[in-house]
Amino acid sequence: MLKTHNCGELRAENAGQTVTLAGWVHRWRDQGGLVFLDLRDRWGVTQVTVNQQTAPEAHALARDIRSEWVIQVTGVVVKRPDGMENSDLASGAIEVHASSIVVLNRAKTPPFYINKDEKVEEALRMRYRYLDLRRPSMQHNLVLRHNVLRYIRNYLGDRGFVEIETPILFKTTPEGARDYLVPSRVHPGKFYALPQSPQQLKQLLMVAGYERYFQVARCFRDEDQRGDRQPEFTQLDMEMSFVTREDVMDLVEGMMTHVVEDVAGLELVTKPFPRLKHHDALLRYGTDKPDLRYGLEIVDVSDIAAGTSFRVFADNVAAGNPVRGIRVPGLASYSRRELSELEEIAKSAGAKGLAWMAVEEGGESPVRSPIAKFFTPELLVMLLERMQAQPGDLLLFVSDTAPVVAGSLDTLRRTLAERLNLTDPKKIAFCWIIDFPLFEWNEDEQRWDPSHHLFTAPMWEDVAMLDGEPGKVRGQQYDLACNGYEVAGGSIRIHDRQIQEKIFKLIGLDPDIARERFGHMLEAFEYGTPPHGGIAPGVDRLIMLLAGEPNIREVIAFPKTQQAADLMAGAPSEAEPAQLEELHIRIADDVTEKS
Ligand code: ASP
Repeated sequence: MLKTHNCGELRAENAGQTVTLAGWVHRWRDQGGLVFLDLRDRWGVTQVTVNQQTAPEAHALARDIRSEWVIQVTGVVVKRPDGMENSDLASGAIEVHASSIVVLNRAKTPPFYINKDEKVEEALRMRYRYLDLRRPSMQHNLVLRHNVLRYIRNYLGDRGFVEIETPILFKTTPEGARDYLVPSRVHPGKFYALPQSPQQLKQLLMVAGYERYFQVARCFRDEDQRGDRQPEFTQLDMEMSFVTREDVMDLVEGMMTHVVEDVAGLELVTKPFPRLKHHDALLRYGTDKPDLRYGLEIVDVSDIAAGTSFRVFADNVAAGNPVRGIRVPGLASYSRRELSELEEIAKSAGAKGLAWMAVEEGGESPVRSPIAKFFTPELLVMLLERMQAQPGDLLLFVSDTAPVVAGSLDTLRRTLAERLNLTDPKKIAFCWIIDFPLFEWNEDEQRWDPSHHLFTAPMWEDVAMLDGEPGKVRGQQYDLACNGYEVAGGSIRIHDRQIQEKIFKLIGLDPDIARERFGHMLEAFEYGTPPHGGIAPGVDRLIMLLAGEPNIREVIAFPKTQQAADLMAGAPSEAEPAQLEELHIRIADDVTEKS
């Protein structure tokens, strides 16, 4: 090794030892007779002093050294004088008095500071990702990711799980996104699809008798990018045989509890994880991925609204739609401008308007509100009771179809929670969402779509309804939500060929296409398939939440941009004509013209 210690390791007890350190120059100060260098490696920073008197050669060299040069320093560990310790540094009780310095590699001036946590334009960070990754905050995130995965591997290994790799060059998978295709040279005109998840393969491993499988699996989905999406991402893919959904949820709950409390050292605020029915989650939080770090629960007031003379409310309820609201403590003093800003937020989520009431004390009326006049005193009392309103509260109501009411109140809830500082990133709140409908109606295509994926089993007691009322069938699906994000989804699977074929038919999958795509699954199901189920927590999202970061690019070493590009290596890029020829691929003229 070119070093005897790392830069985060030396303490007062090491005083008097001669050590060799190696790393990057984090900061330097030239004070004439003394040069101070902060030397950094992955473990921390150690202060090095180079004295002109005692080490003239090293001192002359040190005066030329600049930030991010890679150097090796040999010297003696000296305890800093009392009162001169640096409590911000783990090694702050000592410094190293250099006797010799070797420059291992020089560095150009980096395009941004590595030693300051400054906001840097993301494109520049991506272009020089290897420099960005030197920054302590990024190192913290990647080490956290490693620690979480290491913990999980042991946790699952201890419980009889086997880690098995599955292929990346495969066939279309049923997650419902667009596939990434890879042309085959050996089979001209044919393509592999990159797996959107190892779904089929993990089910086939259950048919193969492995009973407990996991994989830290890379998945590929060609979707439009959003803050928490990447074209390739990592799932902790799991599958178990002879289980009910309770078994899968219990196992994951135990694992996540340890990860949050013991590995990430954060506060788990929901213990045990609440289990919400999908329908109730939508009613109470407007979303199937609620943030349970705070309340601001949605309250249904349709019956009260129906009796008012406010036509917007009354007509909407008469048409079979709801009126629902949330109570926001302390915001009764919001100005007109602030209220119309909230209305814009509700409108951005589809609402036509936002009704409000500010609850006041001692006035003629208990509320200040443009719609108060439409309420009889009795209805107003009922409304305030239903909302559990207190003086100082702001009540917000949306009247529309159920999905619009849910969507706009969800958006308002999230925005107001941020404003009221209710979203402490050090707090983690999980909840399970269960009892999803097995299908969603696809209006455009006029057919049923699976709400999870097409291998998800119906609740066994609902199977009879598959024929007459598929919309009423519940799926044996479970999602894990955390701080407003979906962090895992899974289900108990169909292990019976007849039911599987019925599902294919219901979602309008042509039997020939079903056989072509999934024939191997149907065939496997005829060779003794155990009941099985699984789940796949999204590793990137989970680490993002544990690291308190706003997007998953902060926890992935080499992510793509929102346009699915790698700015460092310049991917995607054009292929050599000879490569294309080998693959029997011709680029269409309109593409060639554009470029
Ligand atoms: N394959 C599923 C997904 O990627 C997860 C699962 O059902 O296990 O969402």
